[in-house]
Amino acid sequence: MALIVQKFGGTSVGSVERIRNVARRVAKWRRAGHDVVVVPSAMAGETNRLLALAAELQAQPDSRELDVVAATGEQVTAGLVAMALIEAGASARSYTGWQVKVLTDSAHGKARIVSIDDARIRRDLAEGRVVVVAGFQGVDGEGNVTTLGRGGSDTSAVALAAALKADECQIYTDVDGVYTTDPRIVPEARRLHTVTFEEMLEMASAGSKVLQIRSVEFAGKYKVPTRVLSSLTDPMLPVEEEARAGTLITFEEDPHMAMEKAIVSGVAAQRDEAKITVHSVPDKPGIAYAILGPIADANINVDVIVQNVSHDGMTDLSFTVSRGDLPKAMKILKDQVKPHIKCKEVTGDDRMAKVSIVGMGMRSHAGIAAQMFRTLAEEGINIQMISTSEIKISVVVDEKYAELAVRVLHKAFQLEQE
Ligand code: ADP
Ligand code: ASP
Ligand code: MG
Repeated sequence: MALIVQKFGGTSVGSVERIRNVARRVAKWRRAGHDVVVVPSAMAGETNRLLALAAELQAQPDSRELDVVAATGEQVTAGLVAMALIEAGASARSYTGWQVKVLTDSAHGKARIVSIDDARIRRDLAEGRVVVVAGFQGVDGEGNVTTLGRGGSDTSAVALAAALKADECQIYTDVDGVYTTDPRIVPEARRLHTVTFEEMLEMASAGSKVLQIRSVEFAGKYKVPTRVLSSLTDPMLPVEEEARAGTLITFEEDPHMAMEKAIVSGVAAQRDEAKITVHSVPDKPGIAYAILGPIADANINVDVIVQNVSHDGMTDLSFTVSRGDLPKAMKILKDQVKPHIKCKEVTGDDRMAKVSIVGMGMRSHAGIAAQMFRTLAEEGINIQMISTSEIKISVVVDEKYAELAVRVLHKAFQLEQE
């Protein structure tokens, strides 16, 4: 008998019928003798609807109140899933994040989980109940409702699995696993049977939203066996079969597998990027800090950073932020930073995308970057910035080329082939 955390995404709980199917599936695992904790997302589209309502009342919604509103989506599905389970003959109980409690910091809209109290969940499990915990939400030290950022139910599930030392965390979604790239963009994309934790981390940070990056960080830190699989299959699929379905995130690299490991395992794109360039700044110590320090203080994440060679003691510094942060970043640079560092001008471009290739095999192979750049050049795609890690190469390009870049790179590295 195992302890399993099962997370169901927005599409998976998108209608009453789908919620019934979730209950059938969970009840099946329960009947097979396993303890199950279920983490539902809000119904598909619901979080967007709630955020839009708030935006109608306040152009910049109050972050504390926005979380009060946004967290309701998951409270609804938690209760509905518990009802469906009771209807399906299982004993079940639902809890909000603050009832459990999932303690977070106070960064509204992108709160980090600090700790999870497992006492209540364990008591219910011991009494034979399925426990349903609303995803995406928590509570800070002062008792304020918090949410974990878009896609945050993944993180709720993996963090719960870590806290409960679960045998597996199963992420049920609308695709049957992690693919070589987003199958909605490239229909030839191929499902990966396994993906290493490092690759999954890079793919998540490169924009493949199948798992929220923080959930992958939790999986890595606490070694939570995590599997991505489909909720759209027959809910009565035998448990033994479902236990092997989808994509498993692995931690230890089997040396034999490593030998055969694909050089490139996946391609990902992150749209909604923006590029900022600070022109003609003095090339001297402290300048990068003077520019990026105030940006960090404003809680804006900076991604790719490029500094050019200097001419006559002056240089340009470019970096990317997410598009939503561009107006705020430009204001800080123009009002606070420019007068102080005396640069020539600050420009922003909000139509950028980051396209990345990821693979463990890159560590031991030369020429991958050259092949990537040649492929993009042949399509006339101009590369504006480049950044690399041991197992990833990212380029920043005009957003209109993002899909084309993904498709040609997927083909060039023959990812459709086993
Ligand atoms: P959920 O609501 O279940 O959390 P998401 O929409 O957040 O689902 O994530 C699943 C989606 O992620 C898929 O429908 C797919 O379009 C997208 N996706 C992006 N990259 C990948 C990838 N490499 N493999 C699988 N799905 C991907
Ligand atoms: N409902 C939240 C969102 O749409 C969290 C999630 O789905 O994981 O971002
Ligand atoms: Mg998601």
